[in-house]
Amino acid sequence: MKRLFPFVLLMLLLPSAQAQVKKAKHIILIGCDGLGAYAIPQADMPHVKALMSDGAWTLKARSVLPSSSAVNWASMLMGTGPTMHGYTEWGSQTPEIPSIEQNRYRLFPSIFGVIREQRPHAKTAAVYSWPGIGYLIEKDAISTVVSANDNEDLCTEEAIRVIKAEKPMFMFIHFDEPDHTGHAAGHRTEAYYTKLTEVDARIGKIKQAISDAGIADQTILIVTSDHGGKDKGHGGKSLDEVEVPWIMHGVGVKKGTPLSSHIITYDMATTIAWILGIKPPQSWRGQAITEAFAK
Ligand SMILES: [Zn+2]
Repeated sequence: MKRLFPFVLLMLLLPSAQAQVKKAKHIILIGCDGLGAYAIPQADMPHVKALMSDGAWTLKARSVLPSSSAVNWASMLMGTGPTMHGYTEWGSQTPEIPSIEQNRYRLFPSIFGVIREQRPHAKTAAVYSWPGIGYLIEKDAISTVVSANDNEDLCTEEAIRVIKAEKPMFMFIHFDEPDHTGHAAGHRTEAYYTKLTEVDARIGKIKQAISDAGIADQTILIVTSDHGGKDKGHGGKSLDEVEVPWIMHGVGVKKGTPLSSHIITYDMATTIAWILGIKPPQSWRGQAITEAFAK
């Protein structure tokens, strides 16, 4: 017992990463549809690059296959891969494979359902441009749900309104660009890069709203995407389609730190749960990317 004492004392004195992120009272997750990680180094995205230089990031996170929308948004929010949650296609509205588990909302448990179960009074929000997101989340578990019906400006305005009025503990914002432009004009085109600067400006507005709400020193902001793209599509196996950005910024997050952890999109829900001190369901397979957090 005596010999253990110095070790126990040391453990008590060492500030853990978990202790650092306990200061995070808000997590805002921005998902930009079709934002290929390949594009970021060359893109004129000052807000995103400021988040990277002041945060922890990788451009090597991977989507699940197929590199399509619904299957990846589901995986990101549900903490596991398609053969377990069952959403397998770009526009899945119901699982093509029966979900291996259902919660009280009759859906595979996403981060929203898990937060509601373990933090019954927490404010949460989902504001999304693509209506397809609405099929994947437990709306009855979420305090504020807004579908902006493919209107990116409305989506931005609503997200800003909700951040300021509700100051949610967890919020997911989905932007449908640059995916539209990727399909219409093609990836690695001038039009795509021009659109990225517009996407960046919207991210800047969200960051400003967090500041205006007076919660910047209690917030972690995350920017990611569901997939990239190649030519005028996605869904395939090229790295341009599969590699997505993972950018984390804010209280307790390391600054200017490229992450060496190997990350797949379903690590997101588990990482968010870890930040909030919430226990992930047994059916989740993601890992918490603790490397992103200051010791
Ligand atoms: Zn997509």
